[in-house]
Amino acid sequence: MRILLLSDIHGNLEALEACLAAAPQYDSVANLGDIVGYGGSPNEVTVRARGLGSLFVRGNHDKACTGQEGLEYFNPIAAWAAMWTQENLTPENYEWLRALPSGPLPLGDAQSPAAKAENGDIAPVPVYTCHGSPGDEDEYIISIQDALDVLMRSSTRLTFFGHTHIQGGFSLDVKRGGLVLNPMYVTPNDSEQLQFPLEPTTKYLINPGSVGQPRDGDWRAGFALFDTDAYAVTFFRVPYNVEAAQQHIYDANLPDRLALRLKEGR
Ligand code: ZN
Repeated sequence: MRILLLSDIHGNLEALEACLAAAPQYDSVANLGDIVGYGGSPNEVTVRARGLGSLFVRGNHDKACTGQEGLEYFNPIAAWAAMWTQENLTPENYEWLRALPSGPLPLGDAQSPAAKAENGDIAPVPVYTCHGSPGDEDEYIISIQDALDVLMRSSTRLTFFGHTHIQGGFSLDVKRGGLVLNPMYVTPNDSEQLQFPLEPTTKYLINPGSVGQPRDGDWRAGFALFDTDAYAVTFFRVPYNVEAAQQHIYDANLPDRLALRLKEGR
């Protein structure tokens, strides 16, 4: 089974369409939240994402844009965009986004495979998805310490998360301790992919990257594919029509910063 992992689309239709055009064949789509907020095409993106997905977890912007969370924890630009999105969503899209479930949720029937470990056999366990962290949908897993706090307490071996807009993740095992997984791409503007085979006895937190507002210094739209049979994750970066996405933000009179940051990947 091949599962397409999309996260943090943030109302960027051009980035979403570029990811879907570049994606290899897949069996299902898991969406890790923040479908809207920041970007200028919230309705188009909601309709498109809704039509694709079989699993959704909500993000903090999905909550804020549908009146389920106050805006006091948002910076002024994010709050402005959330209010604009809330005012411009169609009633149908608003209700659909408002009903999204909170994570963590199991990723269908996907499991970490059974394995032989030094201290005995390890049984298969379900793979999970969440927006922020497994314990708190609004928490950011940014540093290796953030990740180790989660991984050391967890009996889950593979969790996909979003929220940070940073593609890659973290791993923990007895031999190597904690490691940062940082996809090392070689070009700044081309379509690229990198496959990471996963070890059955290692614990992972993996972020497929942000489709619509990357913040890891790479402007290209990010997503990932999880192949359950191969037990491997492939990270993708794809160029998209960033000028068109910026124009939607300008047309909506949203803050210029939201358009400019797309080209910077920050
Ligand atoms: Zn986000």
